[in-house]
Amino acid sequence: MSTGRLTIDLDAVAANWRTLDAKTASDVQTAAVVKADAYGLGVAKVGRALAAAGARRFFVAVAEEGAALRQALGPGPEISIFSGHMSGDTDMVHDLGLVPMLNSVEQMTRHFEALPGHPFGIQLDTGMNRLGMEPGEWSALRELCVAQGPRLIMSHLACADEPDHAMNQQQLSTFLEMTAEIEAPRSLSATGGILLGSQYHFDLTRPGIGLYGGLPYEEARPVVELNLPVVQTRSLAVGETVGYANSWVAERPSRIATVSGGYADGLSRQASNKAVMFYEDTPCPIVGRISMDLICVDITHIRETPKSLEILGKHQNIDDLANISKTIGYEVLTQLGTRYARYYARGREE
Ligand SMILES: *Cc1c(COP(=O)(O)O)cnc(C)c1O
Repeated sequence: MSTGRLTIDLDAVAANWRTLDAKTASDVQTAAVVKADAYGLGVAKVGRALAAAGARRFFVAVAEEGAALRQALGPGPEISIFSGHMSGDTDMVHDLGLVPMLNSVEQMTRHFEALPGHPFGIQLDTGMNRLGMEPGEWSALRELCVAQGPRLIMSHLACADEPDHAMNQQQLSTFLEMTAEIEAPRSLSATGGILLGSQYHFDLTRPGIGLYGGLPYEEARPVVELNLPVVQTRSLAVGETVGYANSWVAERPSRIATVSGGYADGLSRQASNKAVMFYEDTPCPIVGRISMDLICVDITHIRETPKSLEILGKHQNIDDLANISKTIGYEVLTQLGTRYARYYARGREE
């Protein structure tokens, strides 16, 4: 088999959920965000591991993801949908007991008309201008809405990964104003907001990336390891080139390994001639352009012929690779391709 091997450590996901949960007071509930197939790691396996760790509330982006999660978890855990109640969602929301976060007067009308009495939450826009009701809209609907008993009133921080950013305090004040004298449970924070401190915690937190080992949760246990098999090795003379556009030239006699994996597997071309892969503890530079299915690596300094090289793991985490690739850990994870053989590891508890 010549596809990469992606190992997902479910115990690390569970441990990250527990340590994030421990950062808030005992009366603050910690949910789990598993949108985009649990950030690309597989919503069924990850969802069950989180439920076993104690998570009782889950968030997804769209109703279809909620349906997949319900199938994995069975009845019981509460599954909420950030994008709210869209036309066409009604049957899924009803039949699978999903909880839409209503984002507009249009969604509110749709929900109350189509599924009177069905649980819902509210998403408020406190300045990010992405999803949720704005202050003006909300003040007109607030009373009607609160009378229907929302399960949750939430908003989302735009700059929580920058603790000193003035936007955090500003959104907090707006959220407090918009929810003053409301008894419904409130939620403002994802991973970054949890780390901002207790005034951001309210009744429920919604961590995503921290569960999967990414920044801004620096203490997170790493979750993914990615090894790419060596397909072939060859020797190059001085002056020979590697890959498309001859972008790397051998300046010494070199040995090059070609590994299986490329930008079609979510490994960005931005990392060409920049990132390294690891043979055990030894870094080996990626040379030449990353192509669709293959990457060339300089292994001149390695005595053995490696069977595989590691691109994600203890030496290089998702944020290291993201920096080199001019992106963020979230994108590295969610781009991890479908060709990898995926292994779900358990029992590595430290
Ligand atoms: C994605 C998302 C989260 C989780 O954010 P992380 O930064 O991954 O912890 C929480 N809330 C909303 C509204 C989101 O869109």
